[in-house]
Amino acid sequence: MEFLAALAAAIGPDRVLAGDAVPARHHSDWSGAAPVPPLALVRPRSTEEVAAVLRLCSAHRVPVVPQGGLTGLAGAAVPSPGAIALSLERMNAVESLDPVASCITVQAGATLLEVQQAAAAQGLQFGVDLGARGSCQIGGNLATNAGGNGVLQFGMMREQTLGLEVVLADGSVLPMLRPMLKNNTGYDLKQFFIGAEGTLGVITRAVLRLYPAPTARVAALVALADFDAALALLGHLQARLPRALAAFELMWRDFVETSLQWQRLREPFDAVHPFTALVEVVGEEEASVRAALEAALADAMEAGQASDALIAQSQAQALSFWKIREATAELPVHMRPPINFDVSLPMAEIGRFAAACRGAFDARWPGHHTLFFGHVGDGNLHISTDGRSIGGQQAQLEEMVYARVAAHGGSVSAEHGIGLHKKPYLAASRTPAELAAMRAIKRALDPLHLLNPGKVFDL
Ligand SMILES: Cc1cc2nc3c(=O)[nH]c(=O)nc-3n(C[C@H](O)[C@H](O)[C@H](O)COP(=O)(O)OP(=O)(O)OC[C@H]3O[C@@H](n4cnc5c(N)ncnc54)[C@H](O)[C@@H]3O)c2cc1C
Repeated sequence: MEFLAALAAAIGPDRVLAGDAVPARHHSDWSGAAPVPPLALVRPRSTEEVAAVLRLCSAHRVPVVPQGGLTGLAGAAVPSPGAIALSLERMNAVESLDPVASCITVQAGATLLEVQQAAAAQGLQFGVDLGARGSCQIGGNLATNAGGNGVLQFGMMREQTLGLEVVLADGSVLPMLRPMLKNNTGYDLKQFFIGAEGTLGVITRAVLRLYPAPTARVAALVALADFDAALALLGHLQARLPRALAAFELMWRDFVETSLQWQRLREPFDAVHPFTALVEVVGEEEASVRAALEAALADAMEAGQASDALIAQSQAQALSFWKIREATAELPVHMRPPINFDVSLPMAEIGRFAAACRGAFDARWPGHHTLFFGHVGDGNLHISTDGRSIGGQQAQLEEMVYARVAAHGGSVSAEHGIGLHKKPYLAASRTPAELAAMRAIKRALDPLHLLNPGKVFDL
């Protein structure tokens, strides 16, 4: 085929795999979306090669689906029919780290873990962390505006980004890599590409902020009687330990029970509790961080906000607490398939919203297997249902959840993005005027509609 021959001639035949040579993992992502083999898998090694690929795709009208670590949960990196998959995996260098300016320059294919490790080696910390850290790439994190466990303290990927280098659909390069916090010179163009799910440009490099790494980190599991107690505890810890509260992850009983069972772990408390919060507090000196957390939790128990609490006595015990929360990595193993929701709501609504969903599911599918958990400190709730337990009625389940999200004034995607899966529900969280503005931006930057077509919305 003329196009593939031109591609191989432009960037080298070793960068292009076609047909059966494309590994099956590039046919889909973690979302469980139906696999689609791409026309070819293209793995450039430099920004210039990405630009050459996009120029050729533009000339031949071939669509392009950017791919990072393929851990996305919305189906956004699944190849569109007839598209090439453009993987950034060979552009994975950590190029430089400036400890004085506290920033790091990386290629888009570096994994989140590689960035975290490079920062840690200099006594610094990267503000984003999530369960897929070993596989997801910075380009994918940026394109989904990933959140995760550190949002309470540092915000999402958008807040970590000082600069980006992006290749547009026609192959032109936007070198927006100036590592400055202050830069009010017209539109902040880089923001268009963060959270755009690869529909506006291909991210090739980034300058990211770093922070001093805390030298002490103490985790605790806190047993709670109800959702209101969780909110009261969150407010109490934020007031008592300002800027020190690094994580507040809430797990409903169904989640804890399933996680313990899947991973063959022991019940952490002597009794069973309706809610468990995983709390992490950071600071400079372990004994004082621990003492402050102990005192704050003791007061919370006395005030009736907490029913019980376990403070990790070692790093190994802290990891065992996090293991309970990170059972999400097991979802595709045990649920066939997992039907995942990632919604955000005004914080005070989350408890009522979850109860309303559960009530509706119980009435429609008695015996369904559903887990409720989330980064509740950020107003973010995750729900995962085993598709078998609702007779495969995914569309009906989604209607039920998203109707309630709209009724409670929430968003259909807090951090995973829209991709393919949430496309039908985007209008539940965006007004017609907002959608028209998004389409205008898409037409301006990608007039031939070649970048990740069919994702987020249809033109
Ligand atoms: C166990 C587990 C836990 C998770 N926990 C969280 C969590 O806590 N918070 C959270 O936000 N997410 C979470 N996720 C979801 C996922 O890890 C994130 O969405 C992540 O940011 C995706 O990165 P990726 O490199 O795998 O991207 P991919 O899945 O490969 O791609 C995602 C999107 O980004 C686009 N893209 C990829 N690279 C580029 C690029 N260089 N330029 C332009 N577009 C690009 C793709 O086209 C696609 O639209 C989790 C996933 C798993 C499996």
